[in-house]
Amino acid sequence: MKPKAVLIVCDGLADRPVKELEGRTPLEAVDKSSMDELAKLGVNGIMDVISPGIPPGSDTAHLALFGYDPFQVYRGRGALEALGGGFPVKPGDVAFRVNFATVDEDMTVLDRRAGRIRTELAAQLAPQLQNLSLPEYPDVKVSFLHTTEHRGALILRGEGLSRNVTDSDPGRTSSKVLEVKATDQSPEALKTAGILNRLTKKIHQILREHPLNRELAEKGAKPANCVLFRGAGILPPITPMTRLFNVKAACIAVTALVRGVSAAAGMELLNVEGATGTLETDVIAKAKKLVENFQNFDFFFLHVKGADNASHDGNLEGKMAMVKKLDSMVKFLLNNLNLEETVIALTSDHTTPLSMRNHSGDPVPLTIAGWGVLADDVNQFSEKACAKGGLGRIRGKDLMPILMNLVGRLKKFGV
Ligand SMILES: [Zn+2]
Repeated sequence: MKPKAVLIVCDGLADRPVKELEGRTPLEAVDKSSMDELAKLGVNGIMDVISPGIPPGSDTAHLALFGYDPFQVYRGRGALEALGGGFPVKPGDVAFRVNFATVDEDMTVLDRRAGRIRTELAAQLAPQLQNLSLPEYPDVKVSFLHTTEHRGALILRGEGLSRNVTDSDPGRTSSKVLEVKATDQSPEALKTAGILNRLTKKIHQILREHPLNRELAEKGAKPANCVLFRGAGILPPITPMTRLFNVKAACIAVTALVRGVSAAAGMELLNVEGATGTLETDVIAKAKKLVENFQNFDFFFLHVKGADNASHDGNLEGKMAMVKKLDSMVKFLLNNLNLEETVIALTSDHTTPLSMRNHSGDPVPLTIAGWGVLADDVNQFSEKACAKGGLGRIRGKDLMPILMNLVGRLKKFGV
């Protein structure tokens, strides 16, 4: 039996010096003995997930972490988002990330998230948007997928479509819903832009009249009377990593976009009760799911989102609590997995400095421990400590070959 590989990605965990922590990062300031134990047992390094200085998005970062060159294969977020939400996206489909939003009579955006409409309420609106047909475009099938709260995806299927179109989402309030434009002059892009502009109007008409929205408006709440499109995308042209490395792979993640990249890479998506993608998520339930399924897969990808949310909100306390929580998850895995038959990698998909409230292009720390690993002298899992380790500084797309080599899944180059 070959050893198994576990890749733990703590979204947005890495940080910069924090003033309130006397210049330490949250990883340096929090007592986290299990993550440090893993660093002690392992070989450490820092990683430019995309390439030095480039702030990664969640989609491009995970493409890189799964072994692909994002500059070569990235084709927008929309199709990945839809795939992660459970829609069977096919090659040729053009998909968009969408938001339920609130607009006034002249289509000025009052709230980009319709007051963060609750999932159950948005789910009542979604059926009205199934099978939207446009008489002007009889050959195009339009599908709407609601995921959580205000979020969803829109998928166009048919001949002659293109992802080369702009967003209708202005990205801020007090601005009008934008007209979608073709970014090249191809008939495909012009046709796709035309479809979206028709859909904006048609969806607004349907939602405006919906009894639930009338009810919300009467109560003084924000009606979800518009849908904003962004991030046009098609599936990335990739060979699943499961085939490239001949592994059976499982994804344990909640975030739709991350699940979508995992599905495109050939992973099976596992669901975990209590996993929420927020700071309240049940990390032990996630780790348990992995342990329970240990015999069924060769590779596990375990993703936890919370720390990134905390950083986007500038929530130092929340981020520190998340580090503690992640440490308890690593502890559970160390107690329940045998490092004689497992290689564990612990890292982040990008740095999200609390001070920036957004992703930055700083490298992230990386620890790899377990079967066959030659440990170095690093004894702490942090941005600075890992930089002194034996892995040096690598790129995101190098991680998968390094892991697959350790577990004996790579063929020799040459004879
Ligand atoms: Zn983020």
